[in-house]
Amino acid sequence: MHDKNRSLVDLDKHALIHPYTNLANHQRTGPLVIERGDGIHVIDENGKSYIEGLAGLWSTALGFSEPELAAAAAKQFDALPTYHSFNGMATRPMIELANRLKDMVPISDGRVFFANSGSEINDTVIKLIWYTNNILGRPEKKKIITRMRSYHGVTLATASMTGLGTCHDGFDLPLDRFFKCMCPDYYREGLPGESEEQFSERCADDLRKLIEHEGAGTIAAFYADPVIAGGGVVPPPAGYFDRVQKILKENQILFVADEVICGFGRTGRAFASDTYHLQPDVITVAKALSSAYLPISAAIVAPTIWEPLISGSEKYDAFAHGFTYSGHPVSAAVALRTLEIYEERSIFQHVQSVGKHFAQRIDSFAGHPMVGDIRRVGLLGGIEFSSDPATKAQFDKLLKVGSFCSQKCQNHGLIIRNMGDIIAFCPPLIISEPEIDEMFRRFELALAETW
Ligand code: PLP
Repeated sequence: MHDKNRSLVDLDKHALIHPYTNLANHQRTGPLVIERGDGIHVIDENGKSYIEGLAGLWSTALGFSEPELAAAAAKQFDALPTYHSFNGMATRPMIELANRLKDMVPISDGRVFFANSGSEINDTVIKLIWYTNNILGRPEKKKIITRMRSYHGVTLATASMTGLGTCHDGFDLPLDRFFKCMCPDYYREGLPGESEEQFSERCADDLRKLIEHEGAGTIAAFYADPVIAGGGVVPPPAGYFDRVQKILKENQILFVADEVICGFGRTGRAFASDTYHLQPDVITVAKALSSAYLPISAAIVAPTIWEPLISGSEKYDAFAHGFTYSGHPVSAAVALRTLEIYEERSIFQHVQSVGKHFAQRIDSFAGHPMVGDIRRVGLLGGIEFSSDPATKAQFDKLLKVGSFCSQKCQNHGLIIRNMGDIIAFCPPLIISEPEIDEMFRRFELALAETW
């Protein structure tokens, strides 16, 4: 029973299984309970304020206290707090949001499908692609290629797509049909003396060989998060996507850009597909679509995918996929207002402008005796620690240097994320230059205590 005299920390341990948490450690440490938000800050139950250097989970673009989004939600709650879109039903916010998204993405004449999370929408896309290939009479074309260290979610299919062992261990994953090619991490995977372009060529070769080995006729799609974020902040090396896209076209393999993190300005343009000149057949988005204020995700798919879906209904009757909350009116209204605010306040241009300052500040850690590599684009950055930057040697994993530093950051009022010994920065897009300075000042204090 809920005991009012017990602390929230105790009650948390009493009742919760936390997602993506070391549950054994959690029994000892307990949660950090966040109660309020203010701009780029969150405030815990004891009143301590933190800069949220990871925008929640790489998600809120407009910070933690945007009144316009609360107002948009309240207005929609008044008008129609819930409705569905099965059997051809629709609501105004969902229709308007779909049209706005369709016009934003670099996909010609796309159609939009809504879900609630990144995992759900990526899972959906796999189903759409399999369904389409069945309709088109190529049932053997079903395999999916992703990259090592990519992150696409945690459902059975999307965890299988994810190229991180931790998402497979103990879960009997990956499922078959899911294959991985090389991670394009020039720092870790590049050979001595190899240029970035040569490295990209080697990555492309790896993809080519995988396609040859499996047979192009059996591969449906290549799926990429244009900047790998959860796998350690890996922007694509020079010439990488040009080569990859050429191979995909030659082999009639669909290209899906998972823009769940990159979408809506993170890289300085609306989509990473714009930043890196990609021509995907599908783009998936979530997180910043609603500035993460309510769960909503979407896939925008090219005619090669949605046209067969329509003829599919002649064969199978209803297109039998969808969620109770697909295009939920309140989530859609908040997302619509979010996209309007991005435009009204020139948020993507703001990222380009403060992104230069972010770049200068993060680059200033180069030469630190613990810093091996710094990778960044827009307002997304990663610092990789090395025990000997001259040789790129990695710290003994047991030392847990990254999590130690991340804990020190927290003590200094900065929440960031470490993936092993890589520290990620992904602040809300509204961050100002002085706030960027303060974020890195706090990190510097933590680093001094880590070294
Ligand atoms: N795709 C990418 C690139 C992500 O980074 C994430 C989550 O961080 C997902 C998909 C899964 O999203 P969700 O956690 O909303 O299921």
